[in-house]
Formats: sequence, C-alpha cells, structure tokens
Amino acid sequence: MIELQEGVPLARLTTIGTGGPATAFAKPSTLADLEQALAWAAERDLAVVTVGLGSNLLGADEGVDALVLRLVGELATVEAGEGALLAGGGATNAVCLHAARRAGLGGLEFACAIPGTAGGGVWMNAGAYGSDWSEILVRARVVTADGAGWLTPAELGLSYRHSDLRHGQVVAAVEYRLESRAPDEIKAIVGDLIARRKATQPTNKRTFGSVFKNPEHELGAGRMLETCGLKGHTIGGAMISPLHANFIENAGGATTADALALMVEARRRAREQFGVELRHEVELIGEIELPA
Ligand SMILES: Cc1cc2nc3c(=O)[nH]c(=O)nc-3n(C[C@H](O)[C@H](O)[C@H](O)COP(=O)(O)OP(=O)(O)OC[C@H]3O[C@@H](n4cnc5c(N)ncnc54)[C@H](O)[C@@H]3O)c2cc1C
Repeated sequence: MIELQEGVPLARLTTIGTGGPATAFAKPSTLADLEQALAWAAERDLAVVTVGLGSNLLGADEGVDALVLRLVGELATVEAGEGALLAGGGATNAVCLHAARRAGLGGLEFACAIPGTAGGGVWMNAGAYGSDWSEILVRARVVTADGAGWLTPAELGLSYRHSDLRHGQVVAAVEYRLESRAPDEIKAIVGDLIARRKATQPTNKRTFGSVFKNPEHELGAGRMLETCGLKGHTIGGAMISPLHANFIENAGGATTADALALMVEARRRAREQFGVELRHEVELIGEIELPA
C-alpha cells in the first residue's frame, strides 16, 4: 500500500509558503501507486488535488479536505525521442529543459523561468515570451479513479492560462513536440530569457507567480497595479512586490488570508481607477475564494 501522511501543511508544498494541513498526502512514484491512491480516495469519497512545485498555488489557512498528491519517481522522469520529449507529469520544467538541450531539441526554452512541472504546465497552459504549453503539447495522459486516456490540447480545452482539467484528473505524462536546435543555441536563448526575467521579477523571493491574468487593456496587470501605487503595499506578512506589482511576496510569516486581503485591495483599486475587473491567475485550494 502506498504510504499516506496526515496533516502535511500546504505551506510545505507551495512556493509562497502558506496554507494549512491536507487531510492526506502521498507521493506516488509509479502508475500502479497512483491508481491505488486514487482508488483509496474514491472509496472514502475524498477529493484529490495534485500539486506540482506549488508555484501557482494559494492554499486555505484552514487546510484542505483532500488527498493531496505529488508525483515523483517514474512519474517525474523525462525521455527524449525523435523530435519529441516524453515527461512524467511530475517532471520539473528545469529537468525537461535540460534533457531537451542535451538531445538538441528546441521549443521549450520559454519555460526556463517557469518554476513548475509538466503537469502543472498543462493545467495552467503556462506560458511566457509569446509561447505556451498548447504550442508544444502533443497530448497528455490523464488518469482518474475511473481510468486513463490521452487527451489532445483541444480536448484539454487549453486557452490563456486555462485548461478544462478538474481536481481528480491527474496529468501523469506529457508528450511534447520539439524541433531540432543546437544545444549552444538553446543555452544562449535560455541565458538571455533568464537575465530578462531577473531584471523585472522577484525571482529570489517566495511568491506564487502572477497574481492576476492580464486584462484586455493596454496596460498589463502589473503596470495597472503599479499605477495604482501598490508596489510595496503590505498586509500582515504579505507584500506587493516592489519590483513587479503583479507579484505578492511572503515577506515573513505571511498567511493565505494576508495574500487574499492584498488581492482584494488590488482588485478594488484596479476597478476604481481603470474600471477593470481583474481575474486571478493563482489557483485557490481549499475552502477559499476571493470575496467580491
Ligand atoms: C517566480 C515565478 C515565476 C513564474 N512565471 C510564470 C510565467 O512566466 N508563466 C506562467 O504561466 N506561470 C508562471 N508562474 C506560475 C507557475 O510557475 C506556473 O503556473 C506553473 O506551470 C505551475 O506549475 P506547478 O507544477 O508548480 O503547478 P502547481 O502550482 O503545483 O499547481 C497549479 C495547478 O495545476 C494542478 N496540477 C499540478 N500538477 C498537476 C498534475 N500532474 N496533474 C493534474 N493537475 C496538476 C494543481 O492542482 C493546480 O490546480 C511563475 C511562478 C513563480 C513562483
């Protein structure tokens, strides 16, 4: 039987470092483990939430009544093929990119500054620098308590930072279509993108990435909130990044409630000053929502 732990805090599973305990936590390392874990939860009518690196997650301070899964072992490996990369859902973007470069496969460079996993990338249709998952994804293997199947980007409903995936659907494997590119060229592209990122975003702080999706407006969410004078605005231990206003930093001892309160304030100011209703990009886990 796969090992289950009780009460593991979401704060340990998320990059922002906030959030209360999960009812149960397991790290399946094989497909058989994963199926066993899903069956265990189904027998108890318990929800299932899969986390990657938790780099886009805000979990309730009260915790989450769910079996939380983190894919490891065989479910986090990467294999390069002819013009393709096959990654476990738990494989980090850094490991995928490393394998792609070694195999002379380009196209994944845009993900160099996205600190997540293959599965998290599919769920979020993560993207940067004009590319996103939908452009390189051939198909994703989705496993549920009822069975497994491969889904294409269209079947996954990928659009701007969105998929139609729901909790209980676990992305166990991902197939990327990449193109032939010299490892040195890949290295140069990645070096340039990372330098650009470090100059404009708080990459060395505890954050969960972009707070809000960019609205349909000439200003992106970051510029909009900066114009509202929110850089450095602090509630409890959470602070709007002084470097980029669409990031919230855990400045020390932050709670999820602090971060949510900042989000409510940011949304209010954007509404008042620009008449824009910002929609959050970060995924909320547990019994929390952004109050109106
Ligand atoms: C410094 C920083 C910079 C960032 N920059 C970017 C950026 O440029 N572009 C961008 O798009 N994002 C960015 N992000 C946000 C985040 O890194 C991405 O959304 C990333 O794809 C999330 O991956 P993850 O594996 O950490 O997913 P998590 O944050 O762990 O989870 C996100 C969602 O995916 C689900 N999920 C995760 N893994 C699986 C799986 N195997 N099966 C089913 N569901 C799963 C979770 O349940 C959750 O709903 C940034 C974050 C940080 C902290």
